[in-house]
Amino acid sequence: MKLLKIDHLGIAVSSIDAKKNFWTDILGLTLEGTETIHEQKVTTAFLPVGESEVELLESTSEDGPVAKHIEKRGEGIQHVAFRVENIEDALAELKAKGIALIDQVPRIGAGGAKIAFLHPKATSGVLVELCER
Ligand code: ZN
Repeated sequence: MKLLKIDHLGIAVSSIDAKKNFWTDILGLTLEGTETIHEQKVTTAFLPVGESEVELLESTSEDGPVAKHIEKRGEGIQHVAFRVENIEDALAELKAKGIALIDQVPRIGAGGAKIAFLHPKATSGVLVELCER
């Protein structure tokens, strides 16, 4: 498996509109538009930072994973995403090593990327996303 870089940090916020100010006006990042992924009950906004990005995540539903994260832990970093060369190979390798996966096969995330989440119990509590673009 080859990790190419930290692709993005996923940050859970109660409202992208209400909370984007810090990232745009204070830190000077550019918000490159938003996208709603209905099956994941989330609206995402990407803000590039050098070779990586900040992904702001706003839940579209009270029972979505981002809403649950905020309920349990408050706003803040929800996941770390690594870009991989080949996500199918990476998942097969992790499975062979006994790592618990949330997604057995990749799904399509924001921007059309192929993504898959590893189970936090396998990663010291960090929700890890793999993504291939
Ligand atoms: Zn993500």
